[in-house]
Amino acid sequence: EQILGESMHDFKPVAWEDIAGLESAKSTFLEAIIMPLRRPDLFTGVRCPPRGVLLFGPPGTGKTLIAKSIASQAKAKFFSINPSSLTSKWVGEAEKLVKTLFAVAAAHQPAIIFIDEVDSLLSKRSGNENESTLRLKNEFLIHLDGAASNEETRLLVIGATNRPQELDEAVRRRFVRRLYVPLPTKEARQKIIEKIIRQVKHNLDDFEIHQLSEFTDGYSGADVDSLCRYASMAPLRALTPNQMETIESHQLPAVTMDDFKQALRVI
Ligand code: ATP
Repeated sequence: EQILGESMHDFKPVAWEDIAGLESAKSTFLEAIIMPLRRPDLFTGVRCPPRGVLLFGPPGTGKTLIAKSIASQAKAKFFSINPSSLTSKWVGEAEKLVKTLFAVAAAHQPAIIFIDEVDSLLSKRSGNENESTLRLKNEFLIHLDGAASNEETRLLVIGATNRPQELDEAVRRRFVRRLYVPLPTKEARQKIIEKIIRQVKHNLDDFEIHQLSEFTDGYSGADVDSLCRYASMAPLRALTPNQMETIESHQLPAVTMDDFKQALRVI
């Protein structure tokens, strides 16, 4: 547990409503993943749930958010691994880390192991792989197979990737459920905008918010989030250092559509 300290997350619970759009993904997950983690006694035999789920799609579309929401609803412990920090820090030790990770997760069931950028950890065999990478992959497969063959296990591995084609074929097969997480629709973008700007004083009307959802065609959820944050900073950006020291928060001017238009040029 000491080794994994950084990877064990206690985070603010994420509700389904916090995720804009992705309605069909939500219902799939409720039936296939969340209920089985909550009521393993009902989901046995042919009803036994998958132990590996792959979320793929463009960056910033809410894959991490979905994984956290599944953990929140299943009341599962959440272990998050980011391979880019992991492999540099644990050169040659990553295989041991995988073993430890599964052991600790098993001790904290129900548990979810979330591997962001899973392709970089478990990529296709490129021919020039060193032995430690191969051992790491094999270790991972052993544990995933172990979880899949044990009906009692309440362990789920969620992998996220922007490049599913880079994933090792053997690994991909283990992620039995694969779900494409697309860029948000106009309606989803509007929901994200509404949710974020609710937190600040603004004078945008419904028509302007609707316009913003149209102007942001092609933006990911993370992009829309950045846009709103950038625009929300405008009233603070306009202050002199002196005003910044003395102004009360209720005296700040409202965020305007012009602030958003300016933000659209930047983000
Ligand atoms: P990456 O592939 O870059 O790791 P990701 O797909 O895991 O990205 P998240 O980290 O889940 O994306 O999303 C980044 C941020 O974007 C979230 O914290 C959230 O603020 C916002 N966001 C993205 N998609 C949605 C969505 N569907 N609903 C609400 N917020 C969203």
